[in-house]
Amino acid sequence: MEEIRGHLYLVPTPIGNLEDMTYRGVRILSEADYVAAEDTRHTRQLLNHYQIEKPLISYHEHNKEEKGDYLLSLLAKGKQIALVSDAGMPAISDPGADIANKAVKAGYEVTPLPGANAALTALIASGLDTREFTFIGFLPKRSVHARERLHEVAKYRGTLIFYEAPHRLKETLRILYEVLGDRQLTIARELTKRFESFWRGSLMALIEQPEQIVYKGEFVLLLSSCQEDELTSEKGQNQLLEERAVTPIESVLQLINTGMAKKEAIRQIAREQGLGRRDLYNAVEKALAEEEQA
Ligand code: SAM
Repeated sequence: MEEIRGHLYLVPTPIGNLEDMTYRGVRILSEADYVAAEDTRHTRQLLNHYQIEKPLISYHEHNKEEKGDYLLSLLAKGKQIALVSDAGMPAISDPGADIANKAVKAGYEVTPLPGANAALTALIASGLDTREFTFIGFLPKRSVHARERLHEVAKYRGTLIFYEAPHRLKETLRILYEVLGDRQLTIARELTKRFESFWRGSLMALIEQPEQIVYKGEFVLLLSSCQEDELTSEKGQNQLLEERAVTPIESVLQLINTGMAKKEAIRQIAREQGLGRRDLYNAVEKALAEEEQA
């Protein structure tokens, strides 16, 4: 008889809207031998919604050592375990990374399911760079450690993504401003829920007028990269066009080669890279003229 190997499924659950549960997620939950959950009461409600009855195993930050061993012992017996967190992707700012890593190391099958995640959901509607980004998650609670962490990432290119609790939000915005300076900020609040909202502006504008947002619910903060920040000054724009002249211009030329109109290509690349349209237009014209002469 063929031996059944232990299998760990990492199953995302909705971050607010039940419709974001995937068909496959529901099927895996209903086929698993056990469901390991961060909060069993919360997950019981989700399972009830889909009329799934399964033995639940509590697995969270404070019992992950002992319960991790227990889950591994079940995998050793060939059991199928579905791991869920309270919301979103297990292992993203959630317990789950530990058992996923241990199961991989022990040679069990580990299958991730795609699904809801607050960081990426916020990113794609942030209006900021989506090609390069760094997920920071929660900053350390102590201000001195939060600052240290921010100094480490201050020169990262691309969008920075943070999670934050509502009662810490104002203080975190202040620390972000102090360490990283003024940047474009998007705040995604209550994603996929009834009061979903986005605030977009500069970090300083929100610090100066904090009443512009409601400090309740769940939040993702997204900051533009230091490079985009430099671009806000005219000097920065020209400097960047010179320093990386080839990149935005080449991107425009590539789009033109695919058949896109020049004006449209310039508009798209300027928007994507946070460049001034006119500066980019002039730079492209210059490059085209030089190409013609060559
Ligand atoms: N594993 C989850 C994921 O994949 O997004 C993240 C869990 S982490 C413990 C919880 C944090 O995620 C919240 O404090 C908030 O920063 C963010 N978050 C979760 N749901 C959200 C939502 N609906 N809207 C905005 N942020 C959310």
